[in-house]
Amino acid sequence: MAIHCQASSSRWNRILKQPSAVLAALAESSGGSTALPVARNAAACDHLPHIYGVTPEEPVASESMNVDVVLIGGGIMSATLGMLLRHVQPEWSITVYERLDRVAAESSDPWNNAGTGHAALCELNYTPERPNGEIDITKAVHINEQFHQSRQFWSSLVSANVLPEPKSFISPIPHLSYVSGEEDVAFLRKRHAALIREPLFSSLRLSDDRAEIERWVPLMMDGRDSDAPLLFTRSDDGTDVNFGALTKHLLDALARGGADIALGHEVGSLARGADGRWTVGTTEIASGERKLASARFVFVGAGGRAIHLLQKSGIPEARGYGGFPVGGQCLRSRNRSLAARHRAKVYGKSTVNAPPMAMPHLDLRMIDGQPGLLFGPYAGFSPKFLKRGALTDLPRSIKR
Ligand SMILES: Cc1cc2nc3c(=O)[nH]c(=O)nc-3n(C[C@H](O)[C@H](O)[C@H](O)COP(=O)(O)OP(=O)(O)OC[C@H]3O[C@@H](n4cnc5c(N)ncnc54)[C@H](O)[C@@H]3O)c2cc1C
Repeated sequence: MAIHCQASSSRWNRILKQPSAVLAALAESSGGSTALPVARNAAACDHLPHIYGVTPEEPVASESMNVDVVLIGGGIMSATLGMLLRHVQPEWSITVYERLDRVAAESSDPWNNAGTGHAALCELNYTPERPNGEIDITKAVHINEQFHQSRQFWSSLVSANVLPEPKSFISPIPHLSYVSGEEDVAFLRKRHAALIREPLFSSLRLSDDRAEIERWVPLMMDGRDSDAPLLFTRSDDGTDVNFGALTKHLLDALARGGADIALGHEVGSLARGADGRWTVGTTEIASGERKLASARFVFVGAGGRAIHLLQKSGIPEARGYGGFPVGGQCLRSRNRSLAARHRAKVYGKSTVNAPPMAMPHLDLRMIDGQPGLLFGPYAGFSPKFLKRGALTDLPRSIKR
């Protein structure tokens, strides 16, 4: 369990205004001395983006008041990284700070994303058409391989009884691509021909047979009389992932292994001392109590709010990034009779130069064993960077 350093309000203000006071305060609180300056662990940075720290062998100021790793945010990213770290460095102490009173309540909530196990089986943006008309499948193969690695990781955790039965977080659901109009039909045919040469995509089926398509996606074919050419591909290897359930399972397992999951704690400051350690300032939302923690490594898994924390961290890699106040909104339904007529995730083609998130899709979701439908996205606008963020998120992120 992590033990947090505490500072009174006036002392906190002094610390925030004078970064060098952070280390002094920590040394004071812990009764120890600050560690010697050490170099950044470049290898860790290469493999685990956003993690910065000192080499594990270096002495630390006070083991009793420090943690090895602070993970900011209780979403799927922190949960996944925490579990990976638990495997490669089981002796490391981990603290997760989540500002809300439950984990996976922002983007990782199952209804705040489409739950598509992205494996490039149906997402047409992963196979761009080259100027010479050929289809580039490089990215699709890479994405598919990555998703297989994720599945193998989850599978190993299920085998080790770290995760519960797979159906609690992943469901097999066919992935289909859909296009209409001659130009897009020609594109999808070429995409299919290019992909099925790859073993990972060899089972991808192609159909323009309306009777067959009506069996695949009856809801979508309702009342569709047009003679316009249409074409579908179908993969039965697709999945729907409940990232919310997965996040909870992973964080529960981390907590069982000794990690401290501090709910209702907002990280407000992040500063790196001369010794390479990070000082993380948190506020307990319910009491207003402010605390400090010292960590060798910090992962900023704060979703939309990551930009603020990365800016505060002062790392050069954070420069040049900004927030863009565009979101995706979806319609959702838990009408079981509708869901019974759409047993697939179907992705269409977005217009040229539209961002990947603009692809229209109609998804069967499986959430807590119950089917539901999700359709979208529709473009939305908000200066908030989190669903439960602040209207000032965007202006606060603008730096000179
Ligand atoms: C409309 C939409 C559809 C999507 N569809 C898919 C899909 O089909 N498949 C897919 O794989 N991905 C999809 N995604 C992306 C996926 O949802 C996200 O990439 C993923 O959930 C991000 O997880 P995260 O842990 O980074 O962030 P989040 O889940 O947002 O977690 C961040 C957490 O950090 C907390 N936090 C923020 N600031 C602080 C702070 N200062 N202190 C403490 N805690 C803090 C927040 O409260 C939150 O709980 C979709 C996203 C959207 C928006």
